[in-house]
Amino acid sequence: MTVTLAKHQHAKYFQRFIHLLPNQLAVHDSIRLTMAFFALSGLDVLNSLDVLSEQKRSEAIEWIYRLQVRGAGPRSGFQGSTSVPKEASKYQTGHLAMTYLGLASLLTLGDDLSRIDKKSIIQGVRACQNDDGSFTATLTGSESDMRFIYCACCISAILDDWSGIDKRKAINYIKESISYDGGIGQGPGLESHGGSTFCAVASLLLMDNLTSALSEKQLNRLRYWCLMRQIGGFHGRPNKPEDTCYSFWVGATLQILGVRHLTDATENRAYVLTTQDSVLGGLSKFDTSAPDPLHTYLGLCGLSLLGEPGLQAVNAALNISQSAFDHLEEIHKIWAGD
Ligand SMILES: [Zn+2]
Repeated sequence: MTVTLAKHQHAKYFQRFIHLLPNQLAVHDSIRLTMAFFALSGLDVLNSLDVLSEQKRSEAIEWIYRLQVRGAGPRSGFQGSTSVPKEASKYQTGHLAMTYLGLASLLTLGDDLSRIDKKSIIQGVRACQNDDGSFTATLTGSESDMRFIYCACCISAILDDWSGIDKRKAINYIKESISYDGGIGQGPGLESHGGSTFCAVASLLLMDNLTSALSEKQLNRLRYWCLMRQIGGFHGRPNKPEDTCYSFWVGATLQILGVRHLTDATENRAYVLTTQDSVLGGLSKFDTSAPDPLHTYLGLCGLSLLGEPGLQAVNAALNISQSAFDHLEEIHKIWAGD
């Protein structure tokens, strides 16, 4: 029996996150913007953003702009929550992942980014790059790895300004992070992983250096490593169980590398749909776990890459909907004419 995607229930699931953060997720308040992005972009991929009233959408835009730390020099960017009050401005600092998700959410909502303090944000990006080419998430001391190179590349691509990244150093860090097995880790000497491989490959594409930075042999080893991640669904590393989110992380990487057609789409789709809650909505990591916003969003994006009927196409490198990407291109045309 063919299982159908419970589109309506998934849209309801995201709507609940927009209206109220469930108490079991209160611990994630400091990254509330992440939940907002999954819900907003998720509704967009479901072609269901119109379930939110015009007023609700403009309230969401205003809330996201309140997260912008403006004119704070190297601390500029977006923070994940309004829980750091304005009065405590010395503690307010941008976070590269939050800046990327803030910009992506604004694009999804159709905002024209006119209230974005572009110059300061790029200054904030520049301040987060390390000598080895990697990026830290914030200036207040955080991890530094492939994830934040990716966020820095997304921010630069969205703002159409690459002056905050030393591309040569970033590309070098990515090349140094290629593991012996052909995949890419979070940093040099670390185990290959589907998430870091996506971040690396998407960053190279956004920097317009994918085929110049990597040799044909390296690209082919990457393609092979990614293709070997399919069990039915995909897993993120050898010997791990399949997990819904990798249908996007690895699926999108294969799409960028031009070989997604070599995967078994039927089995991939079947796995992802075993993890959906068709009554209350949402997708989970495994068929035995509870749905969460990340796996719901990435599961839908993974299905979108397979051409699931009723879903909008996604831009694999920026992980936003095609319509949000088209909107961005219109904004870039306006900026170019300024
Ligand atoms: Zn996962």
